[in-house]
Amino acid sequence: MTDFQRIILVHYHEIGLKGHNRASFETRLLKNLEALLAPFPVVTIHRISGRLCVFLREGTDWDTAVEASEVAGRVPGVARVSSGFKCERDLDEMARAAVLALSEAGEFSTFKVAARRNHTDFATGSMEMNQIIGGALCEACPDKGVRMKNPDVTVGVEVVQNASYVYARSVPGVGGLPVGSSGKVVCLLSSGIDSPVATWKLARRGAVCIGVHFSGRPQTSDASEYLVDDIARVLERTGCIARVYTVPFGDYQREIALTVPPELRVIMYRRLMFKVAEALAARERAGALVTGESLGQVASQTLDNIRATDDAVDLPVFRPLIGTDKLEIIREAERLGSYEISSQDAPDCCTLFMPRSPETHAKLPVVREAESVLPVERWVAELVEAAEVRDYACPAYKPKPRRDAGGAGQGGAEDTARA
Ligand code: ATP
Ligand code: MG
Repeated sequence: MTDFQRIILVHYHEIGLKGHNRASFETRLLKNLEALLAPFPVVTIHRISGRLCVFLREGTDWDTAVEASEVAGRVPGVARVSSGFKCERDLDEMARAAVLALSEAGEFSTFKVAARRNHTDFATGSMEMNQIIGGALCEACPDKGVRMKNPDVTVGVEVVQNASYVYARSVPGVGGLPVGSSGKVVCLLSSGIDSPVATWKLARRGAVCIGVHFSGRPQTSDASEYLVDDIARVLERTGCIARVYTVPFGDYQREIALTVPPELRVIMYRRLMFKVAEALAARERAGALVTGESLGQVASQTLDNIRATDDAVDLPVFRPLIGTDKLEIIREAERLGSYEISSQDAPDCCTLFMPRSPETHAKLPVVREAESVLPVERWVAELVEAAEVRDYACPAYKPKPRRDAGGAGQGGAEDTARA
């Protein structure tokens, strides 16, 4: 145990580029961190000279501090996380804290000190601090070398108005922007590998994500819905996802399969999915749809077919994985923690009523003509009505109160409700 208070310094360089938006970005990130670090012994989180400082309760042990810094490092908007101590503005104390911080920094052979003072009311300049604290560290670790260029560990020392902060362990965070700083999107979420990664990418750019899952129910089991719930829980760990609408889609696919030429079925399913997603986006005031499509991956992901599905909606459709290879997507899914869930097989509407040879180069007039005999508007209204909603903890999401009947939009009170 140490007599210094443990702190975690959260760095967020990208926000620095955002000019006058900076204050609101910082506030958003601070609130997201407060919510996601709630299970940890956090006293408070403050802004300190261009960083956020998480103050941990006196007596917090090292393992807990590391765990909390790992959680913080996965939060969008966090560029780097450093762990260390708060101490007085006293060089002896700062040197003692530096020795302690360095002893907890893991394996290393070279180090340097990078001291900054944020107020010139502290008499010692940064160069001098580097020398004094560096000297103390050399004495404490005689077998380690000082290296100015690319050392294994940099011991950070920051002197602010009434305290100083000293840290050594420092790990990169996921970067990006705080969730809630870029609006809201509706993500088409299957239980496959791609769509959770696509969702994460938009969240990492600051968008609050609302999932829509089309289940094959009642023509298939609800197995895919459980997988999507597991995936949403993974995304929830970083505050990325606010809710998931589950739409029982099987009967409508059956109708489509009975009516339209087999080769156009998949495009028709997808156009209907997009329309339902767009209607839910309107309800959520979301500004775009997101899918996990990657060019050429399957028949529905050719340029012609992408065009034929985009034609069904007015909202922009983002496909953050369009140029990403499957192997890269798998690697990202592993990093995100969704890969194992997505690797389980579950029948969803994708496996239902599939034609033997789907169209790969759909012609718009042909698609529109085939669709014109379907009661699409009524179907969209029915499917939106039938959608079931499940809420997840997303600090940046404020459900809009709904004027129409139904349980959705009240925010978190019920786990599952009819939309
Ligand atoms: P994934 O691995 O995400 O399932 P995929 O490679 O299986 O993608 P498709 O089945 O063609 O590809 O789906 C392309 C995209 O369409 C998905 O990434 C997802 O965004 C959306 N999508 C597909 N099926 C569903 C579904 N059942 N519910 C919601 N969205 C879906
Ligand atoms: Mg799929």
